[in-house]
Amino acid sequence: MKKIKKNTNIEKLKKTILSEKKSAWENEEKGIDIFAEDYMKFLNYAKTERLAANFIVNMAVKAGYEELKWNGKISNGGKYWFLNKSKSVILIHKGSDDILKGFNLIATHIDAPRIDLKQNPLIEDSGIALFKTHYYGGIKKYHWFNIPLAIHGVVVKKDGEVVNINIGEKDTDPVFLIPDLLPHLSRKTQENKKILDAYTGEHLNLIAGTQPYKITKNVKEKDQVKLNVMNILYKEYGITESDFTSAELELVPAYKSRWAGVDKSLIAGYGHDDRACSYASLKAFLDIKNVKRTCVAVFADKEEIGSEGITSLRSLVLTDILALFVSKFVKNYDEILLRKVISSSFAVSGDVDAAMDPTWKEVNEPHNNAKIGGGVSINKFTGHGGKYMANDANAEYLAKIRKLFDENQVVYQFTELGKVDEGGGGTVAKYLAKLGMEVVDCGTPVLGMHSPYELVSKVDLFQTFKAYKVFFENIK
Ligand code: MN
Ligand code: MN
Repeated sequence: MKKIKKNTNIEKLKKTILSEKKSAWENEEKGIDIFAEDYMKFLNYAKTERLAANFIVNMAVKAGYEELKWNGKISNGGKYWFLNKSKSVILIHKGSDDILKGFNLIATHIDAPRIDLKQNPLIEDSGIALFKTHYYGGIKKYHWFNIPLAIHGVVVKKDGEVVNINIGEKDTDPVFLIPDLLPHLSRKTQENKKILDAYTGEHLNLIAGTQPYKITKNVKEKDQVKLNVMNILYKEYGITESDFTSAELELVPAYKSRWAGVDKSLIAGYGHDDRACSYASLKAFLDIKNVKRTCVAVFADKEEIGSEGITSLRSLVLTDILALFVSKFVKNYDEILLRKVISSSFAVSGDVDAAMDPTWKEVNEPHNNAKIGGGVSINKFTGHGGKYMANDANAEYLAKIRKLFDENQVVYQFTELGKVDEGGGGTVAKYLAKLGMEVVDCGTPVLGMHSPYELVSKVDLFQTFKAYKVFFENIK
C-alpha cells in the first residue's frame, strides 16, 4: 500500500483516489456536427430494418466489400458482407493477425418499435376504410395517435414479385393517422382508466380513406370506400387484397430527424434505439485502419421482440457465417477450431442506454444513471431486479475496456438502467455471451426511449463512434 504524506495537498489526493465524472463537452473534437448531420440523413432513409440493411450493404459495397456467398469463391481482399433475408447484415474485415486469435465484434440492432399492418388489414366501418394493425416491440400506444405516419415495406405476390411500398415521406405524399378520442367524450373511456386499458392494441386503427368508389342514386353498395382504397392500390402497385397476407408493411413516424434545443446540442429522431449505435458501428467499421484482429460488425433484426426468428441474433446464422468465413481461411477446419476462435473473441453489445431525465427523477439512481452529455455508456449488466435475464460482464474484461478507452481519450460513463427494482431491459449481450465471447453493453444514452421521436446528444453519439473505432482497432 502506498503511504500518503500527511501534508499532501487535498486536491491532489482527491485527484489520485476519487473518481471524477467527465463531460463529453470537455473534448473539443472536430467533425461532431458533420457526423450528426450525416447520421440524421441515415435516420431519414433507414426507417425500417430492411431500409437500414439496404443502406449498410450499399455503404459496404462502395467501400469495396464483396458478398460472402455460401458456395461462391471469395478473393483474398478480406472485406465481406452478408445480407440475411434482406433484414440483417454481417460485415467482416479480415485482419493481418491469425484468425485463430479471435474476432473483435460489435452487434447492434436495426429494428425499432413500430406498428405493423395485420395480414387481413382492410375493413370499412361508418364510411371510413381502416387498416387494422398489430404493434411491434415495446411501445406506449398513446404516443402513436394523431401523429403523421408513413407506410414502408414489401408486398410479395404469389409469383415471388416483391413490390416495395413507401408512402408518406415525400412532401407531396399523403400521411396516415390513427385518430384519438376527443377529450370532450373521453372521460369514461380513457381518463378514468389505467393507461394500458385506455389505449389497447385494437384501438390502433389507421385511416386508409373515406371516398367511395362510386355511388349511384339507386345502388348504394356496401364497402364502397374500401373498394376505392383497394382500387387505388391495385392501379398504383398491382396488388390485390389477398396480397396483404404475404406482406410486411410497417407504420413509422413520417417526420424527419431534426436538431433539438436552442443550442442544437441534441438530435431528435425516430429509431435512435438502436440506429444511433448501428450508425456509429458502421462508420467506425468502415473507418478502421491497419486491421490486426479480424473485425465483425453485426446489424441484427428482431431485438425489440426478444431476438426471436431467423434474422435475429439468437438464430444460428451468425455462427454459421463465422464458420463459413473461418473455413475459407483456415486449413483443416473443424468445429472445435471454430469454437476456439469464438471463445477467443471480444464483443460489444452496442445498444442505447436510458439517460437521466430530471422530470422523472423518481425512477433514477443519480449516482449510476447515464447523463446526457456524459459520453458513451457502459453497462456491466442489464436485466431487471436481481440482475435477472442479464449478461453480467466480467470485471477482467471491463478493466480491459476502460484502459482502452482512457488511452484513446474516449469519454465514457459506467451506468445502470434506472433504480434497482424500478423495471429493466435486455439487449443481445447474453446471446453473444452464450457463444462464449467476452461481451459488455456499450452505447449511446437516449431521452424518451421507445417513443416515436427520441433524443440523443450529438457529443454522446460521437463518443460512441470513437469508442467503437478504438474497440475494433485495438482491443486484444
Ligand atoms: Mn435497443
Ligand atoms: Mn429498444
